[in-house]
Amino acid sequence: MARVDCYLISGCELSLDTDSSLLQDHMDVQHLFLRRLLGLNPHSMLAILFTETGQMPLRVRRLLLALGRLLYLVRTDPRRVVHSAFLDSIALMREGKAEWASDLSIMLKRLLTAIEVTPDDLMCPDTIQAITKQIVSIVDQDLQNDIDHLVRTHLLRNRLELGESRSLTLVPRRLRHYLTSVHVPAHRKAMTGLLLGDHNLSVERLRYPARYREAIPRQHRLCRLCLAAVEDEVHALFDCTAELRLVQLRSQFLEALRERDPVLGALYGKISNYDFLLKLVSSRKAVQQFAKHIYLTLRLFEETPRYFPVAFRIPG
Ligand SMILES: [Zn+2]
Repeated sequence: MARVDCYLISGCELSLDTDSSLLQDHMDVQHLFLRRLLGLNPHSMLAILFTETGQMPLRVRRLLLALGRLLYLVRTDPRRVVHSAFLDSIALMREGKAEWASDLSIMLKRLLTAIEVTPDDLMCPDTIQAITKQIVSIVDQDLQNDIDHLVRTHLLRNRLELGESRSLTLVPRRLRHYLTSVHVPAHRKAMTGLLLGDHNLSVERLRYPARYREAIPRQHRLCRLCLAAVEDEVHALFDCTAELRLVQLRSQFLEALRERDPVLGALYGKISNYDFLLKLVSSRKAVQQFAKHIYLTLRLFEETPRYFPVAFRIPG
């Protein structure tokens, strides 16, 4: 193995992570970087780091690089030493010995949906390319599954985007338009937080226990301004009328929206406010105005202390 593997990995920046614990520090850096980029808290969900930026989780990214190397080895000139080393590696795999090719098969078996490969599979360019596509598909399905089932990502579900075939479809992983189209950083951060369930409204903040109170059931996470409904995203942005400034902010936004996107603007009042919010999430024409509206609305809510029922207070 020591005489063969050095030819296979020479000059290429990759390694097979058969001991997954050794990769943890590296993955932590990727998560930290993406959270900082998006302005999310250090405990935010992991799936959204990838669905919103288009990045690939590091473990899988490194596996895809290894498959790229494998494809190169298969196609390289048979007279080269590295090709001979590759054939030796496959021969050792057939004998059940540990080396580069069998490590690669172990990594493929460890995927969420295990992929079983034979030595012959690893020598076939078409099969390697098919495996690469399958891995990307497995990761994307897993990420989409998180978005579809986690409570905090309800605004991201059924979000249609232009796919490779130029038709509207679900795209699990992509650098989203609001991250590049909203130019004011504070507005972009407010919109990102609202879409990804990392904002200061009570529907999120009261979900978990704190030092002085228990976790509060959703129906009791009431609006701090009107105490008449759950303080969630659609209530804050479009339902609550308890504060005149809030109503004025909304009117100004709707006026700007009708100017930028008349078709969407005309839908306000004709469909439920929640459906209207979902359509706004996908809208590109008025994304800057929408992000500003979110920022100003959340800032207005923060001027008033959060309400929670005393029944959930933990005696000090
Ligand atoms: Zn309210």
